[in-house]
Amino acid sequence: MAQIIDGKARAKELRKSLKERVRVFKERTGHAPGLGVLLVGEDPASAVYVRNKERACEKTGIRSFHHQLAIDISQQQMEECIDKLNADPQVHGILLQLPLPAQLDAAPLLERILPEKDADGFHPVNAGRLSVGQPTFVPCTPLGCIDLLLWSGVTLEGADAVVVGRSNIVGKPIAQLLLAEGATVTICHSKTRDLAEQVRRAEVLIAAVGRPEMIRGDWIRPGAAVIDVGINRLDDGSIVGDVEFEAAAARAGYITPVPGGVGPMTVVKLLENTLEGAIRIEEHKLQA
Ligand code: NDP
Repeated sequence: MAQIIDGKARAKELRKSLKERVRVFKERTGHAPGLGVLLVGEDPASAVYVRNKERACEKTGIRSFHHQLAIDISQQQMEECIDKLNADPQVHGILLQLPLPAQLDAAPLLERILPEKDADGFHPVNAGRLSVGQPTFVPCTPLGCIDLLLWSGVTLEGADAVVVGRSNIVGKPIAQLLLAEGATVTICHSKTRDLAEQVRRAEVLIAAVGRPEMIRGDWIRPGAAVIDVGINRLDDGSIVGDVEFEAAAARAGYITPVPGGVGPMTVVKLLENTLEGAIRIEEHKLQA
């Protein structure tokens, strides 16, 4: 039976040390790190994610500046909101909660966020920096996945790692981080010919698809470390991951539960990114 990787416990531990780092930052600079949050419309799932992030900010001493925007806001009005946060000295990180309503084009809005305030790490400049190994903002969910693997003592150097999913915000950056840790990485997606065969080779498996339990338990390599990023709400209201949990746990060496695995880590990594952004901005001011 696999060891369950407790994302809630790890996130709590990280929040504690973050709180102390925030305290030191405040003492040194006289102000708190700030996260500007843009939420468009009232999608219930997005509202819950944002509330969790803002509560976590409060608990660690980071200020959050919530901007609730009308569902029919125009692209230009969105640009103006981003420009204001870019110029606001109290804001060190900007979160544009996705998905956006159909009239808005997310890519140019994400690109409008200053790379040095891009706490989510979605800006193409930061994605490029990650791919060439320069210090940068790294997307929060991928950071959380790697943290959980290392915290659990999983060896990444030389490991055969398989990432299922190739989105810009989850799959691709996870693959980059695994590569940087020395893993041999395979990225699978909807056009992959034999997914089961790829998954069977994985010593480290990351599932980031968004399809309930599509990765069957009997595909899991015995002893593998399995990180399930998927969050899928079923008709009965319950939440399951992309991996068939019970059957996979019977074969794996390590596995994250859903909920309680990657989710809490995403939130704490956003806060860590915000603090690091604030430190970089302050250091830059001191040097100027
Ligand atoms: P996307 O929809 O952007 O990407 C899904 C990926 O899965 C795509 O690359 C797609 O391939 C691939 N895919 C779809 N069907 C298959 C298939 N049958 N076989 C293999 N690959 C397939 O999703 P995200 O990356 O944004 O999110 C993935 C999941 O992670 C979602 O459930 C989301 O809710 C969850 N999530 C969880 C977070 C957390 O904090 N725990 C944070 C962010 C996301 P292709 O590119 O070919 O279309």
